[in-house]
Amino acid sequence: PDAIMVSELANRMAERVADVVKSLMKMGMMVTQNQTLDQDTAELIVEEFGHRMVRVSDSDVEDVIHQTEDDPKDLKPRPPVITIMGHVDHGKTSLLDAIRKTKVVAGEAGGITQHIGAYQVTTDSGAVLSFLDTPGHAAFTSMRSRGAHVTDIVILVVAADDSVMPQTIEAINHAKAAKVPMIVAINKVDKPAANADKVRAELLQHEIVVEKMSGDVQDVEVSALTGQGLDELLESIAIQAEILELKANPDRAAEGAVIEAQLDVGRGPVATVLIQNGTLKQGDIFVVGEQYGKVRALVNDKGERVAEAGPSVPVEVLGLNGTPEAGDVLNVVATEAQAREIAEYRSNVSREKRAAVGAGTTLEQLMAKA
Ligand code: GDP
Ligand code: MG
Repeated sequence: PDAIMVSELANRMAERVADVVKSLMKMGMMVTQNQTLDQDTAELIVEEFGHRMVRVSDSDVEDVIHQTEDDPKDLKPRPPVITIMGHVDHGKTSLLDAIRKTKVVAGEAGGITQHIGAYQVTTDSGAVLSFLDTPGHAAFTSMRSRGAHVTDIVILVVAADDSVMPQTIEAINHAKAAKVPMIVAINKVDKPAANADKVRAELLQHEIVVEKMSGDVQDVEVSALTGQGLDELLESIAIQAEILELKANPDRAAEGAVIEAQLDVGRGPVATVLIQNGTLKQGDIFVVGEQYGKVRALVNDKGERVAEAGPSVPVEVLGLNGTPEAGDVLNVVATEAQAREIAEYRSNVSREKRAAVGAGTTLEQLMAKA
């Protein structure tokens, strides 16, 4: 655009409109906030305020948030991120609860654990694992469709008394599509009707060949009810994680994915973010989807305030201007003006898209516009 409204210019620079008007007056221009300025005048003002001219476009956004590739020597091992999937009632929630109870609550003062949608456990051998506490395919697929690839390992839960069911097959397909390795947890082995070998045989029909059938997919018999096999399951995950050689660079601006978010009455918008690269610190300025903010506080899965969160760590983030959506990506940026620019740009784009769709515009027209 070759002209810009005074108020818009102020907005883009994250400066007060009154200050911009004052500065224009000093330059001999009597304008109100609703008047437009030509390119040259706008640039003078921008220089006056010590800003770089930012004309936002998709590629600008990419430039700001996608820092250079990490140098391999800066990469350090990070914990695996695990999602539990399987047919309804096969014990996903129970398994998560059982793991959490044996590994998390026992070590905590008072045993009070707040639910933040993800948590970390340490296995007996000392491996740290991050679990996404969002069992179900809906969460997995909606995150994937939003471009967030958060899961490193899928635990496929199959009840030994019910064997492979429709959602088991769905889960297998999701894991395959996402190219995420799988570990089979044959659950409910405490039940008299349990038949683990039947599960293994039926999985074979879906090209899942477990170790006990001489394949390479780890399978573990567990009972969320009695706790049987849970340690073995955790060690299997640790082994799978080692094979994956998961790495990230903790010494860079953080990037993460929103696991869940809500508007908290007392604390304002709160998002649980899984850090995927870099380290998020108190005071960091970030953009997350169409929202932005400055980290006011970070709270870990034990409800404790922490100063920072590194790769694969789930953390509650306070200090947002609005509530983002699950699957939104968080990026730390240099300045509040940038954060705001990107957030506003994105919400304009999605508003335009909604409007265009509402007016019956074709996809081609939509793309041409963007
Ligand atoms: P989800 O739908 O996959 O999350 O399954 P839930 O965790 O809600 O479990 C469904 C039912 O199976 C509940 O009544 C659980 O108590 C029960 N259940 C889960 N795991 C076990 C297990 O290992 N043994 C037995 N006997 N029951 C279990
Ligand atoms: Mg459940």
